[in-house]
Amino acid sequence: MVVGATVGQLREAIEGDRWAELAAAGLEVVEVKELGGLDEQLLEKSRQTIEAAELKVWSVHAPFGDQLDLSSPDRTIRSAAVTACREAAIRLHRLGGSVVVLHSSRLYATTSENADDRLPRMRESLERIVDEAAPLGVKAAVENLECGALGRSADELEAVLEGFDAAHTGVCLDTGHAFLQPAQGAQLVRQIAPRVITTHFHDNNGKRDEHLLPGEGSVDWDGVLEALNTDVYCGPIIFELFREDGFYERQVPKMLRIAQTHLSKREDASSVDGLK
Ligand SMILES: [Zn+2]
Repeated sequence: MVVGATVGQLREAIEGDRWAELAAAGLEVVEVKELGGLDEQLLEKSRQTIEAAELKVWSVHAPFGDQLDLSSPDRTIRSAAVTACREAAIRLHRLGGSVVVLHSSRLYATTSENADDRLPRMRESLERIVDEAAPLGVKAAVENLECGALGRSADELEAVLEGFDAAHTGVCLDTGHAFLQPAQGAQLVRQIAPRVITTHFHDNNGKRDEHLLPGEGSVDWDGVLEALNTDVYCGPIIFELFREDGFYERQVPKMLRIAQTHLSKREDASSVDGLK
């Protein structure tokens, strides 16, 4: 099993020996964030530093937010989001990466909008991103999101991706988001598992998107690992953790221990035990 982690903005990450420290701690791949504003020189310098550390950039989390919303009713906002995601795919390609992770919308739960209105706009945006990314060999992964955003359910994700070539598109399974609706989490994972092409592994207690280490919350890891067995997904397990307690790299040994002692059991789904 290949284990990776999200490491934030590349501009911050290339300062110091962070890449070498992550690799020394045992990570094999990383997901970087955004990649906006990096010129060719910085990209090339980053590529060389990452390669020298024997790490691989696997994915980029494309930018998102109120002003970068792929299914916004506002054409200008939508267009800016598409451009930013296309640029993220191009820059990722320069770094040797394979997957651009997309949010289908911002949270719109407090407005009168609904998923039906947003769906066709997201599909149009996705088409424009795939047009740019696919020829580069970069796949577009639509992430399952929290309640109140497009992509919160398996049905919505399937509707977004319907008709798109599975060679160029798929789902980023975010385990934390899936279990913010605890009763439906395992079912959602089972349903989307065949289309998963990348992952965000983290835990929570079913109320807030806490981004804890697997085992620290109430996510049904047996259910996740059973659904995401190696018959359906062989890509990297990417940890997406938020830590307020200092140096992020300190978490890497914990991630690897969890991956080795628990997550590797998905190879034999019938013997999966709980993580706690
Ligand atoms: Zn995520």
